[in-house]
Amino acid sequence: MTDRVFNFAAGPAVLPEPVLAQAQKELMALPGVGMSILEISHRSKTFQDVIQGCEADIRKLAKIPANYQVLFLQGGASLQFSMVPMNILPTGGKADYIVTGSWGKKAVKEAQKVATVQVAATTEADNFTRVPAKSELKLDPSAAYVHYTSNETIQGVEWHHEPEVGSVPLVCDASSDIFSRPIDVTKYALIYAGAQKNLAPAGVTLVIMREDLLARSPKNLGVMLDYNTHVKDKSLYNTPAGFAIYVMRLVTQWLIGQGGLDGIGRANEAKAKILYDAIDSSGGFYRPHAKPDSRSNMNVTFRLPYEGLEETFVAEAKANKLDGLKGHRSVGGIRASIYNAFPKAGVDALVSFMKEFQKKYQ
Ligand code: PMP
Repeated sequence: MTDRVFNFAAGPAVLPEPVLAQAQKELMALPGVGMSILEISHRSKTFQDVIQGCEADIRKLAKIPANYQVLFLQGGASLQFSMVPMNILPTGGKADYIVTGSWGKKAVKEAQKVATVQVAATTEADNFTRVPAKSELKLDPSAAYVHYTSNETIQGVEWHHEPEVGSVPLVCDASSDIFSRPIDVTKYALIYAGAQKNLAPAGVTLVIMREDLLARSPKNLGVMLDYNTHVKDKSLYNTPAGFAIYVMRLVTQWLIGQGGLDGIGRANEAKAKILYDAIDSSGGFYRPHAKPDSRSNMNVTFRLPYEGLEETFVAEAKANKLDGLKGHRSVGGIRASIYNAFPKAGVDALVSFMKEFQKKYQ
């Protein structure tokens, strides 16, 4: 393990070391199978056990009621930007979107291609530094659903409560904070997440959806675009992302070992607090992007006094084995992504580095 660095990348992102070790151990041959997960049929009993075990773990972790389906799809969260309106927005219907950052904007853009989209609130005028207050939401009670992004990965803006939407079905892009804290699934109609941040390597997208929505899909949808296909065939209509699902299973087992979502939630709170405290006590040298009540526990975003110094920060951090701290190309600055598997030791190392850096350059 000595040559591993602290990986602050926003996704694909760090995975738990015990998970990597087990995947490595089993890569030549799964015990009792004589082949690796990369080589076996998705119709085999071995793979059925993996995907069913993964679903069972997910149901247990998030206490998912029986009237919800759990799907393992491909195409990333980006495909969900299209599949959601294609399936659950009846022709002529309208959907409300709450926009708190770049991914929410992208979701709107895709939905607009197939539906009438109403932006129920956007904090773009505030440079996406916060989530909107309840009083700012202009919700339409006749909307087919309300869509929001629980954590905006680029801006580092996270909701710490669900938006109140009354009886309109709530749809959430939870790509970058899925299973980072306890979740009350019953508040949602559909949750989707590209798994490559908190749950798995890239390639698999988790969808958790209430069954009554399935009746909304139009009959003429392409087979792969229809949620009903994937429900009917238990995510095995076509060849699934087997390796990613196998690693997800190892991660769900690891999560259970961390005390489930309560346990990992406490650990994530503690890690984020260490970092925000360091930013807040820097006398303005480090400037947080998000407003305090909207700060993300997953993607900690901040600026330095000037851009050139941010480049120096990223380069010197990398030389100190703190990798992936450059902010997204669209907004600049620094972004420290500290997902479930990111170790507290790495946060401590970053804080020490930040203190030294400030002494040197202030
Ligand atoms: N939504 C959010 C919040 C994201 O962070 C990302 C990816 N960074 C996406 C959607 C797009 O996901 P994918 O690359 O899996 O399509």
